[in-house]
Amino acid sequence: MVGGGDSAMEEALFLTRFASKVTLLHRREQFRASRIMLDRAIAHPKIAFRTNTVIEDVLGVEDKEVKGVRLLDTKTGVESELGISGLFLGIGHIPNAAMFAGQLDLDEDGYIKTHNDVFTRIPGVFACGDVQDRRYRQAITAAGTGCMAALEVEKYLEEHGH
Ligand SMILES: Cc1cc2nc3c(=O)[nH]c(=O)nc-3n(C[C@H](O)[C@H](O)[C@H](O)COP(=O)(O)OP(=O)(O)OC[C@H]3O[C@@H](n4cnc5c(N)ncnc54)[C@H](O)[C@@H]3O)c2cc1C
Repeated sequence: MVGGGDSAMEEALFLTRFASKVTLLHRREQFRASRIMLDRAIAHPKIAFRTNTVIEDVLGVEDKEVKGVRLLDTKTGVESELGISGLFLGIGHIPNAAMFAGQLDLDEDGYIKTHNDVFTRIPGVFACGDVQDRRYRQAITAAGTGCMAALEVEKYLEEHGH
């Protein structure tokens, strides 16, 4: 598991249900995860931590099967290999909405701000899915707001002409 935030901790803990061992790789020494999530992961007997560590290469890609990773300790410069059978990224999300900066309102993390679910501050411009939903970010909620946005587009076009 790669990452140092709450999602990485949550996923690492989840993976312990299926994996005999989970190694959490984090590029820094400090974690962005909340204390409670970090403590839970630290206390878990199946989870090992490797901090100040980045992945240099994924081994086994040519065989279409992850077999390991080549790691770099960013403090010592020492490279090493770690045998793994699965690689998961929990390094957060950056909504791809920067192109709308200055036109639509974005929050501090770049999500499009909406009101009444899918309305932006520009009439006729609607936003749906993960790009405006920092809380749930699920397929079903994205599909739901997608449907709402589509209905609002239809309504808008009916009211304002095509
Ligand atoms: C590893 C992982 C596991 C997940 N597991 C689950 C799960 O079990 N259950 C669940 O409900 N949800 C899950 N999700 C979340 C789910 O995938 C998302 O909530 C959902 O895909 C969001 O849909 P969306 O249409 O808003 O965005 P996306 O699916 O991200 O679609 C956005 C689309 O826009 C395109 N795009 C981006 N920028 C541009 C551009 N400038 N021009 C044109 N096109 C562009 C992208 O290529 C992409 O096709 C998971 C997500 C991840 C990453």
